[in-house]
Amino acid sequence: MMAAVHALIGAALARVCRSRAEAFGLGALSHLVADALPHRDLAVPQEAGLLAAALAAVAVTRDSDSRALAGAIGAVVPDIENLVGRALRLPDDRLLLPTHSRLHGREASSLRGQALLALGCLALLAGSHLFRQAARH
Ligand SMILES: [Zn+2]
Repeated sequence: MMAAVHALIGAALARVCRSRAEAFGLGALSHLVADALPHRDLAVPQEAGLLAAALAAVAVTRDSDSRALAGAIGAVVPDIENLVGRALRLPDDRLLLPTHSRLHGREASSLRGQALLALGCLALLAGSHLFRQAARH
C-alpha cells in the first residue's frame, strides 16, 4: 500500500483512540491489514511526495492532542523496512514483516482503490475537523 494511504488510514482510525500511544499502535496494526489488500506501490520519490502531502493534510485537520498524527506515523513506520529493503536491493522474501515478504496483497492494475480509500479517510478527517470547529463556536 502506498505510504500516503497508510498515513491517512492511521489518522482516520485514530478517531476511535483515547491516546496518542493507542493511535500509534492501531496505526501500526492497520499497516498489516492494508498491505494485504490488492494495491500498487510507486517509486520512492513519488511515495515521499505523496506522504508529505498526506501528513500535511493530517496536520491541518489534527485533533487537539495530535492522535491523528500519531496514528498516521504509526501506520507509516513499518514501511521503513520497505525503504531499507529497496535501498539494499533485498528480495521481498528477505523482509521481516509478513505482509512485506509473503502476505503482500496482489499487484493492482490501477490506483483507483487506493485513491478512493485515501479520499474516504480525508473526508472523515475533514468532517471530524469541521465538527470540532463548529462545536467550539
Ligand atoms: Zn508496508
